[in-house]
Amino acid sequence: FAKTAPLPHCKFYNDSIREQQRREKMIEFQMEDALKSGQFLVYLQPKYDLHTHHVVGAEALVRWNHPTLGIIPPDQFIPLFERNGFILQLDSYIWRETCRLQRSWIDQGLSTVPISVNVSRLHLCNSEFRSTVVSLTNHYRLSPKMLELELTESLFIQDADELAQVLQSLRSDGFSINMDDFGNGYSSLNFLDGLEVDVLKLDCGFLKGHNISPRSRTILRHMIVMARELGMQIVMEGVETPEQAQLLMDYGCDIIQGFYFSRPIPAEQFAKQYLCSYSAS
Ligand code: C2E
Ligand code: MG
Ligand code: MG
Ligand code: MG
Repeated sequence: FAKTAPLPHCKFYNDSIREQQRREKMIEFQMEDALKSGQFLVYLQPKYDLHTHHVVGAEALVRWNHPTLGIIPPDQFIPLFERNGFILQLDSYIWRETCRLQRSWIDQGLSTVPISVNVSRLHLCNSEFRSTVVSLTNHYRLSPKMLELELTESLFIQDADELAQVLQSLRSDGFSINMDDFGNGYSSLNFLDGLEVDVLKLDCGFLKGHNISPRSRTILRHMIVMARELGMQIVMEGVETPEQAQLLMDYGCDIIQGFYFSRPIPAEQFAKQYLCSYSAS
């Protein structure tokens, strides 16, 4: 048997795995300092009401402002932080930053809007989750209405009973629960049957392509009706075009979040652009 040379694509594969591992090691080496030195930033993406033409809320989305690599988007570090547990620290930092921003805007006399934060599934196994958000809003003297909690649908799969209890307590504390990326997983409807949530964020998958297919339209239309009848608000994610916005208006979904209205922007820019001072009138 002649010794066979390794296939070129195998070498390539190994190299890219090695490159990936090198990158992850570097991230893990730097993450704690990055958190301490304020390299993680809160970007805000407005939620826009097509009907009233008002910005009615925003979502906090983390960005890593790396000293040499520049702004790194979350999908390049969140999955790793969910594996190594660092997401618990990062999330609470983002929640605290969000509360701090809200407090400073209120103190400046700005009419701020509720901001939703993302909650990694790791928090739901953590008994301190509820007390953490409660003490944050207390500390910054904010109504819980100003800090909404976004949980992804995939989270709802494990331990539905226990989760339902935690969420119910948070709702009775006054927090609004948003189900994120709805329609992007499995058996979504089962969870809605057992869990009360306040806001359904529809996954942008339903809007894919230049022409939204008749099937997608039917699903969208009926999900909007269902949400309304169940007393939930709908936020459509990933709206990029005026045609999509018009379609949603026609179907009775007013609140959109997407590049069509605005990309996620730095928090200070959000305040400057969208929050106005209370006028004495
Ligand atoms: P998500 O919570 O579903 O956030 C929405 C994502 O869609 C954001 O990506 C946003 O920039 C993007 N997006 C908004 N409008 C459009 C649009 O019109 N078109 C397209 N193609 N995309 C749009 P981003 O900021 O890269 O965040 C990705 C995901 O990372 C988030 O998805 C969320 O699951 C996670 N994430 C972000 N920040 C945090 C955080 O502080 N904590 C945790 N645990 N997860 C976070
Ligand atoms: Mg989200
Ligand atoms: Mg989402
Ligand atoms: Mg998402």
